[in-house]
Amino acid sequence: MIWSTVHTARKAHYCDGCARYAIKPGQRYRKGKASPGTDLINEGPHWAIFRECADCATRYGRGHLIGGAA
Ligand SMILES: [Zn+2]
Repeated sequence: MIWSTVHTARKAHYCDGCARYAIKPGQRYRKGKASPGTDLINEGPHWAIFRECADCATRYGRGHLIGGAA
């Protein structure tokens, strides 16, 4: 399963979507967890945590989730 929430960053965060510190303080971002065995996202035995910046959310067609441009 995948679970995700939207947060406002209080410090810079690494974005797993663009593989750089694209999430700046004050910006909204998605933080999610993928349980072990989730196809492609998490093939390992542990829960995986990922973060996604607004640009990536928009690029992947889920900008509405983060409150940015769709
Ligand atoms: Zn990104």
